[in-house]
Amino acid sequence: MDVRTLKKAVAEDKGQMVASLCEMIRINAVGPENQGPGEAERGKYLIGLASRLGFKSIDVLESKDPSVPTGKRPNIIVRLKGSTSKNIWVVTHMDTVPEGDLRAWKYPPYDPKVIGDKIYGRGSEDNGQELIASLYGLNALLKAGIKPECNINLLWVSDEEHGNTHGIDVVLSKKGLVGKQDLVVVPDHGEPDGSAIVVVEKSLAWINVEVIGKQTHASTPESGVNAFEAAARFLADAVDNLRRKFPMIDPLFSPPNSTFEATKCDPNGPNINTIPGRQSFSFDFRVLPEYSLDKVMAELQRVAKQHEKKSHVKINVTFLQRADAAPRTPVDSEIVQRLSSAIEAVRGIKPRPEGIGGGTCAAPFRRLGIRAAGWSTVVGNAHDANEYASVANLVADAQVYAVLFGGKNVDHD
Ligand SMILES: [Zn+2]
Repeated sequence: MDVRTLKKAVAEDKGQMVASLCEMIRINAVGPENQGPGEAERGKYLIGLASRLGFKSIDVLESKDPSVPTGKRPNIIVRLKGSTSKNIWVVTHMDTVPEGDLRAWKYPPYDPKVIGDKIYGRGSEDNGQELIASLYGLNALLKAGIKPECNINLLWVSDEEHGNTHGIDVVLSKKGLVGKQDLVVVPDHGEPDGSAIVVVEKSLAWINVEVIGKQTHASTPESGVNAFEAAARFLADAVDNLRRKFPMIDPLFSPPNSTFEATKCDPNGPNINTIPGRQSFSFDFRVLPEYSLDKVMAELQRVAKQHEKKSHVKINVTFLQRADAAPRTPVDSEIVQRLSSAIEAVRGIKPRPEGIGGGTCAAPFRRLGIRAAGWSTVVGNAHDANEYASVANLVADAQVYAVLFGGKNVDHD
């Protein structure tokens, strides 16, 4: 079968794909941390769907969690054997963030509406679209009787929106399940034209700064130490130094540099006529993976020491959160190459490798030395009210999966 015929076969399932996505959205899969029921019911529906489509090999890895009604969080693997021993994984998540303020929704978040090209509902784009697209991409091969080139493993995980403990971590802790040589696609990030393949992310650090001076009346500043002013001087000096010391540019990222931003400023008192004795604020740093966060912190502390002396204050600098970037997936690695050629064959565009500023679900794989690439075609309204998936993206991405899975068993024209 050639690419054109396979694309057509996928497009014929458009109505079914839309219906399946809507059915899935109807089943709330918000995690227990957000007062949701978890993924068990949605998982049951999806297993039923895969079985009805004719998939025979379906495994469930459960993670015990007493905070959900069923006591278990499912992780589901739907497999189809290939003509080689290589493995491709497509990892999508079943859970969603909560709906937020209901008044902001045009339509009920768990009663999906299809309006033109848009399928409205919580979790429609994040991550339902890609879960359903990868399933129907594989289904097209099954229906046509074409063996995929590699063994295909569709992995539907729980608990992605809240730390992966009951999801990806459980799967990756099973020895021998995902191999070092396996090819992994994590379609949880993308661009509206489907051209970006994410291969690397920046490290992230949230840092709290506390500056302690001495409170006094605003009319007699000489009898106190103004923590606000000391904080402002330290802040300006700190970001100047960091930007100078860590100047590397990597055009895969936008922006291409590490970013060192002061963001949150905490209240320092209710009134204007007091010199504040304590000022705290936070930094958000996104750092290119070549720089270690320890080195960044050491530089920040060096500048803090100078300012303690200069301003006669105490400055405490602490990590609130840190996520060290995982090693890159090389641009010329097999998964990036295969994915690029599938995207090009289906969409006629040249995909480009990309780096992003925040963590992705591909990182836990890359940390284990498994090459994982992030890709999908999204309008980019995940977590918003009125989240929707585009029907066109749903179908086009399913076509990309079909061509990716078919590999050399599909003729590229
Ligand atoms: Zn997501």
